Amino acid sequence: MSEQKIGTKCVQAGYTPKNGEPRQIPIIQSTTFKYDTSEDMGKLFDLEASGYFYTRLQNPTNDYVAAKIAALEGGTAAMLTSSGQAANFFALFNICECGSHIVASSSIYGGTFNLISVTMAKMGIEVTFVSPDSTDEELDAAFRDNTRAVFGETIANPALTVLDIERFAAAAHRHGVPLVIDNTFPTPVNCRPIEWGADIVTHSTTKYLDGHGAAVGGCIVDSGKFDWMAHADKFPGLTTPDDSYHGITYAEKFGKEGAFITKCTAQLMRDFGCIQSPQNAFILNLGLESLHVRMPKHVENGQAVAEFLEQHPMVEKVNYSGLKSDKYYTIAQKYLPNGGCGVVSFELKGGREAAGKFMKALKLAAIETHVADARTCCLNPATSTHRQMTDEQLAAAGIPAGLIRLSCGLEDKEDLIADLAQALEVLK
Ligand SMILES: *Cc1c(COP(=O)(O)O)cnc(C)c1O
Repeated sequence: MSEQKIGTKCVQAGYTPKNGEPRQIPIIQSTTFKYDTSEDMGKLFDLEASGYFYTRLQNPTNDYVAAKIAALEGGTAAMLTSSGQAANFFALFNICECGSHIVASSSIYGGTFNLISVTMAKMGIEVTFVSPDSTDEELDAAFRDNTRAVFGETIANPALTVLDIERFAAAAHRHGVPLVIDNTFPTPVNCRPIEWGADIVTHSTTKYLDGHGAAVGGCIVDSGKFDWMAHADKFPGLTTPDDSYHGITYAEKFGKEGAFITKCTAQLMRDFGCIQSPQNAFILNLGLESLHVRMPKHVENGQAVAEFLEQHPMVEKVNYSGLKSDKYYTIAQKYLPNGGCGVVSFELKGGREAAGKFMKALKLAAIETHVADARTCCLNPATSTHRQMTDEQLAAAGIPAGLIRLSCGLEDKEDLIADLAQALEVLK
């Protein structure tokens, strides 16, 4: 059979029941697994055989769902984590250690910015932030001998910049390191970064992949393309023996296709234990089954709302890469031909005060610290996630006080627009 299309994979990939087995993915609600002999179990501990022994490291329900996401992204291996934060931390820490350096887009999720610039700095890992719009020369200048990874988001949350993945991948590869892409906002339905040269893809599955605001989670997918052995001196964790597993060298034993995820599971999941609960993995899979049906609707609503806001006299500016006026329109045509996502951001005339009044007047769109839900929600960063910053600091960070992030859900667009229109009336 030829390669399946994305919708078929959303519905069926990752789990194929045998004769008489459950049609739906079973929730293996068990911390542990039973073996007949201690020799059998010993082989698992030595990574000589594959199987399960303790859910802090691996669980079958999670692995079915991770296999589906690997198929959607076009990767060779994947693992679920307890959150998107854990996924990004693991993806980077799997190849970085004290003394390493990361090149990261400055236009990334605040939580990831903090993780890299504050928490990982305490571990002795340095970072250079670069503009997502950097030229090749600017990118090259950011690398050092100790650089171990490049990080960016396909569509940044909440800045909504679109990354030139091919160019960032080429820069990473010129310097012998992998490109890690957080693909949370477009999802593999709208963009598959591996096809553009990304080596590792991460997700906050909390967002569109679940899509119903029901379960926090994350995922890491390996493209299986990065040649660790060709850059062995940079990645000793993958290319030299691991004493905690009887001297296994991951890149030798599991090859390009399996080394990254096996090491990440065997070491980081073992030691940090940020596993997704099997129950959450089951909920995530229910979301994935309709991802290809939901994403076009989120895009349709986002586009309609962006177009409505753009022509409204009370609106200063709209950011949405589907608008011809948007700075990222051309690049989005390349990477996101079917649209990006349902998140739109816009600046109201009248700043912080207008934003508060407007949001209070909304009836359908709820005020929440969330995006990518079936229900439309919104947030004013200046009075919530970024409230410690002054108006001047906000302006410098590209987040005007009157900026509103609106995540368009799956409601009918006519109702969403009517809700926005009546709330804008209040400002007049
Ligand atoms: C939400 C988000 C995260 C963090 O994910 P959690 O599941 O909340 O831990 C990381 N990256 C992006 C782009 C996000 O939107």
